Amino acid sequence: MVSEKVTFPHMGTSYIPVKVLLESLGLTCVVPPLNNVRTLEKSLVQAPEFMCFPYKLILGNLIYGLDHGACTVVFGGSRGPCRQEYYNDVLQAALRDMGYSFDYVNLNLSKLWTRENYEAARNAWGVKLRQVLKSLALTVKVLFAVESLYECARRKRCRACDSIAVEGVLQNYVDAVGRAHGYAAVMGLTRQARRDIRALPDKVTDKYLKVALVGEIFVTSDSFANLDIERKLGGLGVDVTTYMGPGTWVRDHLVRKLRPFHKKELAQELAWEFWHVDDIGGHGVQTVGNSVLSSRRGFDGIIHLYPLTCMPEIAAQSAFNAIQERYGVPIMTLVVDEMTGEAGFDTRLEAFVDMLASRGSGGLCQ
Ligand code: SF4
Repeated sequence: MVSEKVTFPHMGTSYIPVKVLLESLGLTCVVPPLNNVRTLEKSLVQAPEFMCFPYKLILGNLIYGLDHGACTVVFGGSRGPCRQEYYNDVLQAALRDMGYSFDYVNLNLSKLWTRENYEAARNAWGVKLRQVLKSLALTVKVLFAVESLYECARRKRCRACDSIAVEGVLQNYVDAVGRAHGYAAVMGLTRQARRDIRALPDKVTDKYLKVALVGEIFVTSDSFANLDIERKLGGLGVDVTTYMGPGTWVRDHLVRKLRPFHKKELAQELAWEFWHVDDIGGHGVQTVGNSVLSSRRGFDGIIHLYPLTCMPEIAAQSAFNAIQERYGVPIMTLVVDEMTGEAGFDTRLEAFVDMLASRGSGGLCQ
């Protein structure tokens, strides 16, 4: 049985349910600080320049965890035709090259319900299947509650008289939840934060631009990686919808696959009209499908986000001309990595929003 002090990487708000899961299995978590410029300090020395931005952040998180007493790394890798296939091997090799010694527990997220994953947890921590299932059930509840809180914030930012107040509630929530332990405490804080946001007074107008975020899951869901795009768009009076995040991922990969005759995801079905592939790695197919879905739903614009050199998203971009010609909804692509300049990024966002407003959009969507 390995050491019980574990660390794991960030991806947006996923650390909240992951911490609940690991603590309910009796483990102590070393949670790295939310992604920030210091996360990259040591990882950029090790990571190849053209490696994906998420990899560099993940490596930085794990370095922090190991530097602060963790002896075991928990990582949820996936399989598929892009670089993520190699994250597990490359992360371990990079950390060992840097002189760290640790145990590594790999969960295969492509097949979360498989025996392989249960055996990995049992071998590492001696946990029983019943305990794992109970902890997973609580974790999924926390995950959806957190998703609902951030969804509420996305709706509220453009409607609130004072959009800064929304950030204030979220910041207090993040501070408090970082100190909280256990399902009940985390759920209590999450529900309270949602109530606080809903209670903020609204403006009188009901006309808003509606913009969908599509793209690679890590950068669309991690506010540091995407330069806080949701907050910035909310401040510009935009109602933001995002399709990719830990909650969506769990719904598609866990809950839907439990059904005996599960169908393709809606995004995969919709993508087929423009792109005759079922999987190209990462979430490339979902990017095409979610762009079609947003266009059909009457969004005013779509923003496509991906990390520099992300192969599935570069391929997905090839479908955008046809989608825009068919539906007439503008799509703007933003590529991010550690070198992205915030001023240029903000200028492009503001110009895109101005362009949408000048088309007379806003208040047209349900
Ligand atoms: S989806 Fe893109 S960013 Fe993620 S591992 Fe694959 S190539 Fe890298």
